[in-house]
Amino acid sequence: MKLILLGAPGAGKGTVAKMLTAIDGSVQISTGDILRGAVKEGTELGKKAQEYMNRGDLVPDDLIMGIMEARLQEPDCANGFLLDGFPRTIPQAEALKALLDRLGIQLDMVVNLDVPREVILDRLTTRRTCSNPECQEIYNVKSKPPKQEGVCDKCGSPVIQRDDETEEAISKRLDTYNEKTAPLADFYRKEGILVDIPATSSEVVVNTIKEKLGIA
Ligand code: ADP
Ligand code: ZN
Repeated sequence: MKLILLGAPGAGKGTVAKMLTAIDGSVQISTGDILRGAVKEGTELGKKAQEYMNRGDLVPDDLIMGIMEARLQEPDCANGFLLDGFPRTIPQAEALKALLDRLGIQLDMVVNLDVPREVILDRLTTRRTCSNPECQEIYNVKSKPPKQEGVCDKCGSPVIQRDDETEEAISKRLDTYNEKTAPLADFYRKEGILVDIPATSSEVVVNTIKEKLGIA
């Protein structure tokens, strides 16, 4: 499958994407994970992206398009991909459209995960992430704590609160989402490929996507 997952930070895009990869071997492509990996490794890209990210601001479109142009041409994308956290702005959506045309790739649909702001705020302040860039397993102090406090179940690395998950940065990210990313729903609605899904549970979301794709 070839999907874009839209939704505010904390809407569950990453969880849904991981569940979908298990269905048909499509790969999850998260620009957030790629950027955090680059920051951790101290690459040129990471150095450029870090300040924007810590403030809860978007990384400039040209950097993101450079990443995605290369990533979408890697061989593992041939089986399908789930775009998580990209596109984030109308210029990114326009550039993606041109890129996909050029590569002869057609999207199946764009899924818009709809979640109330209170739910999102609660989820993000309680979210914790594995600090190992190769792992990045997500935990939640209330609903999914690691077995041993502060230690990743999967790889044993420290589980931390991300720098951009302080209350201040979260509130900034939500404002940025409403201003820059929410308009993408209308962009894809006009293209006729948008599906709105109320994001109650990840299982329900995944089942709805399977139904719409005719693979239920
Ligand atoms: P979120 O939980 O906010 O969806 P992500 O992991 O997707 O977080 O992204 C973390 C940060 O990385 C964002 O706040 C932003 O600074 C940067 N980022 C990720 N994807 C993009 C993108 N497509 N365009 C611009 N910035 C991005
Ligand atoms: Zn881990």
